[in-house]
Amino acid sequence: MNFLKPSSVIGILGGGQLAKMMSMAASNLGYKVHIYAPEKDNIASEVSARFTQGSYDDLETLMTFASDCNVITYEFENVPVDTLKKIEKKYVLRPNSQALEIAQSRLAEKKYAEKCGAITARYVPILNREDIEASIAKLGADAIMKSDRLGYDGKGQARIDETTNLSGAWMAVGQRDAILEEYVDFEAEFSVILTRTFEGNIIFWDSSKNIHQHGILKQASLPAGPLIASQRSEARKLASRIADELDYIGVLTVEFFATTNGPVFNEMAPRVHNSGHWTIEATVTSQFENHIRAITGMPLGSTETLADRIEMENLIGDYTDQLDNILSDNNKHLHLYGKDKIIEGRKMGHVTRLYFD
Ligand code: AMP
Repeated sequence: MNFLKPSSVIGILGGGQLAKMMSMAASNLGYKVHIYAPEKDNIASEVSARFTQGSYDDLETLMTFASDCNVITYEFENVPVDTLKKIEKKYVLRPNSQALEIAQSRLAEKKYAEKCGAITARYVPILNREDIEASIAKLGADAIMKSDRLGYDGKGQARIDETTNLSGAWMAVGQRDAILEEYVDFEAEFSVILTRTFEGNIIFWDSSKNIHQHGILKQASLPAGPLIASQRSEARKLASRIADELDYIGVLTVEFFATTNGPVFNEMAPRVHNSGHWTIEATVTSQFENHIRAITGMPLGSTETLADRIEMENLIGDYTDQLDNILSDNNKHLHLYGKDKIIEGRKMGHVTRLYFD
């Protein structure tokens, strides 16, 4: 047995639904989970053995937390990298801080992806309000401005066209370092989700077709159709190269636009991903389980798909009128995250529907 023994402690930075689902997978494998999050009321600590409340820049509390853990991982991408580097000097952090550092900045991640051979949407860095006009002159007026850091689920973004009030757009991205990115006329969106072990073995799940609304994932479905199927292998090659270059351990997600000219890199997430939630019921081993297996040194489980067709829908905002329908369908699997407040645009849960032909 060459992996962490049962009842070892896995530390998770973050207390949201991804941490909750990782914690449940870890518990199934006999591990104890210690959650670290700033919020006292968080949904991950409800299903975990231990919890430390602390902010992500409180080095002393983080170090005490880390000293209790055999391995530390994260669901939250915006932990200050300097803090993580200090933790990493003494304790085991998987994936490593370099992966997180790159994924925290859109500019850094695009440059890294390009270095690994990716095609990205054309982009120009924006450092202040005055840069915007010149950037539009370079890229054209059909674009998206995105804050370089701290953006998620379409937040910190502004669509730009000829009619846009640029000062308003600058406010919308938070008046901070940003990038202007050309608007990609894509046919579809998909993600490559892989797991890499510390020996460098890589396994992939099938790629779903992902549909976003207002920048938030609404649906992931499989099979993804011929266009995505034809671009999957090139996208996988790039994702593997990124993982190898980073000496990555755990689940890595890379999101792509499928265009008529091939796959265009959009962004990467150094963690389990919303577009892989269907793997819980629809594959032999879920993304959450393989992440825990990888970071604890266990061999990975099969990622084989078990249904003919799959649809994963996010429950965003008020979902309550959908519950009767979901619960009366035996092929639908309901996950409610247990968040106390229903807020418009907030991910409250998801449903996976399996179809057998
Ligand atoms: P992101 O946070 O960058 O993943 O953006 C969220 C969603 O906005 C993406 O999944 C796309 O649906 C859309 N989007 C982002 N960037 C672009 C782009 N350059 N061109 C077209 N759509 C985009």
